[in-house]
Amino acid sequence: MRYEKLAKVYEELSQTTKRLEKIDILSKFLETVSIEDSDILYLLQGDIYPTYDERKIGISNQIAIKAISKATGTDSKKVVLSWKKIGDIGEVAKDLTKGKKQTTLATHLLTTKKVIENLRKLPELIGKGTVDKKLSLITELLTSANPTESLYLVRTLIGDLRIGVQESTIKYSILKAFFKNNKEYEEEIQKAIDRSNDLKEVFEASKNGKLEDLEQIKLQVGKPIKAMLAQKANSIEDAFKHLGKPLAIEYKYDGFRLLIHKKGNEISLFTRSLENVTNQFPEVISYIKEFVKGDSFILDSEAVGYDKKTKRYTDFQAISQRIKRKYEIKKLSEKLPVEVNVFDILYYNGKNELETPFQKRAELIRKIITEHPYKLIVSKMKITSNEKEVKEFYKKALKDNQEGIMFKNLEAPYKPGRRVGNMLKLKPETNDLDLVITGAEWGTGKRAGWLSSFILSCKNENEFLEIGKVGTGVKEKSKEGVGFDELNEKLKPLIIKESGKEVKLKPSIVVSIHYQDIQKSPNYASGWALRFPRITALRNDRGTHDIATLEEIEKDFITQRSKNYKYN
Ligand code: AMP
Repeated sequence: MRYEKLAKVYEELSQTTKRLEKIDILSKFLETVSIEDSDILYLLQGDIYPTYDERKIGISNQIAIKAISKATGTDSKKVVLSWKKIGDIGEVAKDLTKGKKQTTLATHLLTTKKVIENLRKLPELIGKGTVDKKLSLITELLTSANPTESLYLVRTLIGDLRIGVQESTIKYSILKAFFKNNKEYEEEIQKAIDRSNDLKEVFEASKNGKLEDLEQIKLQVGKPIKAMLAQKANSIEDAFKHLGKPLAIEYKYDGFRLLIHKKGNEISLFTRSLENVTNQFPEVISYIKEFVKGDSFILDSEAVGYDKKTKRYTDFQAISQRIKRKYEIKKLSEKLPVEVNVFDILYYNGKNELETPFQKRAELIRKIITEHPYKLIVSKMKITSNEKEVKEFYKKALKDNQEGIMFKNLEAPYKPGRRVGNMLKLKPETNDLDLVITGAEWGTGKRAGWLSSFILSCKNENEFLEIGKVGTGVKEKSKEGVGFDELNEKLKPLIIKESGKEVKLKPSIVVSIHYQDIQKSPNYASGWALRFPRITALRNDRGTHDIATLEEIEKDFITQRSKNYKYN
């Protein structure tokens, strides 16, 4: 397909904020996409591989500027100046391409295949001469691009497509294009997405509008699938009301989510944001080999850090450095050990267990695991209908230094990636939120050249809304906690826009924030502001889909108000 056609669809999609209109545009477009061109499903998500794939385009603004300069024959200083003026590097590319002679365009027609081909070479490049090779791959594309194409090419390169298309938008577009919008098929498409975690695969299996084709998509051990998410329970009573009686209660361990895949001798470990952390946790690999029976399985668990001497559980920040660690892994695993608390199973010895009721899944893990405290255990669980018993269990969980408890419906299937309300969490109100950093300010004096004040955002459907600014809680060095050095290293490549002291950042880095209270505020797009916020952890195990929603913040405000009311 001509890339121009896709660029026009991007344009149409970005011109409406209405979900139904987007679905309409996309479903018509998908009807015209052949199986041969199905990599377009990745391009629609601003990607070149399925989202779980760790190979990313990863082009910095600096390289994009150089490529625009080369492709349009404009001095790079002029490109930078125009970026500062317009504030959007994609628009700069579009503008400068307009000035180019159109004759070259006629001879170089860009196709989506060519775009994918060049972009896929980018993550493969390593070592000497990488920058030049990347530059020439990108310049080749930009030289052939018309203004609209260059806008979306550059946005794809820097990872900021801005067409407001989510996985669910594509799901509904597939339903409309190939299943006549028959809602009965929606769940089947969703299940196929759950099993494959790959929209291209689901698109291909949907083309003929046959359920049998979707059913051919199987869960694959070793390929990361999304973790099921929890909703908040307001109280014990509330949990029983939603999940019925009896239900299962478990400790809510305060570590990080770990999905464990085993196939024969091959074991892989993934975080909640589907990052492969197999190499970082050698001790977990040996626990799995020694203490879990079975040839193949996918387990869901929480890995929790503990102090070797006191055996007290630690919080997430204490072990966060293990997640990204690339060197001296053995040494760190001895210094910061983790205990794996298994609480679910998704696949066992060739059988997909997603549809198996939770109680049966819970029984299965208890059959196949031999517990070894401080190494690998099955999560503490009780089945009960008794509120008093739950209260005792909750108190004990907090005394054992855990975050709270989880409630689980005994009959429920496992729903990857969704907060469907089969699983609820209860923890004390702590005034903590996970938010994403979407902007920052350059520091002055001692902090000149450093990003030092960070703008935080929550999310509302597919947009990020600012909710405050934070500078406190960040330490000089990352050894002491969340460090300026580490944050700057992560944030600087994410700069999308700059004006004066302020920069806009691609939403990617998630932090835990502790605050005193929430206030209504006209100063931020969310309509809320946090008073006295402080960064307490860099959540390098989480992605932007995990952050607090506008709805949750409104709820927290109401809870806070009713608490204040009680105390006054
Ligand atoms: P939250 O991070 O507040 O949304 O709470 C959900 C998270 O709690 C899950 O993603 C898990 O990482 C974690 N968790 C801890 N213990 C359990 C458990 N027993 N069952 C399910 N999730 C748990």
